[in-house]
Amino acid sequence: MALIVKEVQAKSILTPSKIYPYVVNPYTGCQHGCSYCYARFMKRVTGHREPWGEFVDVKVNAPRILEKEIRKKKRNKVWISGVCDPYQPLEEKYRLTRQCLEILARNSWPVVIQTRSPLVLRDLDLIRSAPDIEAGFSIPTADDRIRQIFEPHAPAVEDRIEALDTLHRAGVRTYAMIAPVLPGAEDLVRLLKGKVDYVFIDRMNYHYADHVYREHGLEYALTDEYFERLREALTGI
Ligand code: SF4
Repeated sequence: MALIVKEVQAKSILTPSKIYPYVVNPYTGCQHGCSYCYARFMKRVTGHREPWGEFVDVKVNAPRILEKEIRKKKRNKVWISGVCDPYQPLEEKYRLTRQCLEILARNSWPVVIQTRSPLVLRDLDLIRSAPDIEAGFSIPTADDRIRQIFEPHAPAVEDRIEALDTLHRAGVRTYAMIAPVLPGAEDLVRLLKGKVDYVFIDRMNYHYADHVYREHGLEYALTDEYFERLREALTGI
């Protein structure tokens, strides 16, 4: 997959969000390029014409402006991230998520990390010692064959579960985001037991990946019955 990487200067980084009071997205675009990703609306917002997953704008000034913005705004919970994976592969080189976390931790801002990548473990030292950082993994299926169909460029299910376990055993508050619930999510009940403090569950609420379901004969997993059955089982984790 071709990837167009551009270093850009962001105008702001600590922005209001509907999920948590604030969100920080150190990147625009996401190398994971999940087929169902709702964040592809960012193409419209930013004028990108490339397919979702094939461009990333790197906000190289993110730490610098975050440092300024937290001085002007009232301390509240920050979600990292909403429309990109903060630990997508480019983070290994740019370390923007790490630098933003350092600033937030130093100033005692509460943070919720959301990722699909075990690269988050690179920052375990920081996460453990911060006053209020929790970390969660998006794991919408337990079946890695399904993961390869819907999220071929994201880390394997097994690697996410293992990383979640490492975080949890290190004393970090952890969660799993099972949203959207994909086919093959049943076994998450067993896989997540004892590794998370809580789970979020939601169904597929948008239609970007309907063709993927159809191409693979998985339409049953879009029904109300499937979601309700899974929700009941997963709520017991
Ligand atoms: S990891 Fe998240 S932001 Fe990135 S493509 Fe997948 S769903 Fe979208």
